[in-house]
Amino acid sequence: MRTCIGCRERTAPADLLRVVLRGGDAVPDPTGSLAGRGAWVHLGCIEVAERRKAFARALRAAAPPGMSAVREYAARRVAVGPA
Ligand SMILES: [Zn+2]
Repeated sequence: MRTCIGCRERTAPADLLRVVLRGGDAVPDPTGSLAGRGAWVHLGCIEVAERRKAFARALRAAAPPGMSAVREYAARRVAVGPA
């Protein structure tokens, strides 16, 4: 079980997107293959997690990470269907 950093709900990892920090930016890791500390979030919870600065906290980042790659990924996934 993993906890979504947006809504704090505990759920199966398959329901969540793993995000890791790469050079100050948050990047999606849908296959769970990237090394390093990961944050887990529902696609629909990305915005609220960002507002709460939950990504910076979960990824132990000094500053809120860039979110463009994660936002693009989420927009594509939402267009296709549920995660
Ligand atoms: Zn959530």
